[in-house]
Amino acid sequence: MGALLIVCILAAGGFLFYASYNIASGVYLKAFCRANTREKEVALTFDDGPDPVQTPLVLDLLSRHQAKASFFCIGEKAVPYPEIVRRMHHEGHLIGNHSLQHKNSFPLTPYREMLSDLTQTQEILEGIIESPVTFFRPPFGVTNPTVGKAVRTLGYTTIGWSVRSLDTRGEPVEQIMKRITKQIRPGAVILLHDRLPDSVELLTALLEYLQANGYKVKRVDELVNDYAL
Ligand SMILES: [Zn+2]
Repeated sequence: MGALLIVCILAAGGFLFYASYNIASGVYLKAFCRANTREKEVALTFDDGPDPVQTPLVLDLLSRHQAKASFFCIGEKAVPYPEIVRRMHHEGHLIGNHSLQHKNSFPLTPYREMLSDLTQTQEILEGIIESPVTFFRPPFGVTNPTVGKAVRTLGYTTIGWSVRSLDTRGEPVEQIMKRITKQIRPGAVILLHDRLPDSVELLTALLEYLQANGYKVKRVDELVNDYAL
């Protein structure tokens, strides 16, 4: 009996870990992680910006390729660089909410505080772009009942991913590209960051790969609209 109890506890713990750390699990909230399509269409999503140095370079490159992306911005980073956020918006990219400070403790934040964190971020971003900001990506992709409740209250559409580049590890671009291309399928949502020294080099390689393999780049909200949750 003792052994069975331990197995049960481990299984329950494993499930809760999976539910919290796998944004695609859909246990606490429904997140759009990929489009259910056979069309060769993918979405590029950038988290943790704006970065005063890297983001404008990423925007230059996207503009040269006429590719539209989605930027999940951190509220407090947007405050000193409103012109970068405005530029994202004016150049046709989607702006999403990625919390006020991206604190490690965000998933443990009490409900009221979390609501205020997300609302403040929304107000900052909406104040800059003068358009509604209703798309959200949880920091670290971690979800739990509190995040789920806050997102439902605020009426956000939560965006996950199907391709995790792990580009923040500081590995050579070739290695990151290998990881990405192994996972790319029609309808993929690719998670990237626009704050890294290699952001532009990686995006250059990725855009070339997508073009060479006949993939069209779409904004993630277009994928959501075309292939509902
Ligand atoms: Zn992040």
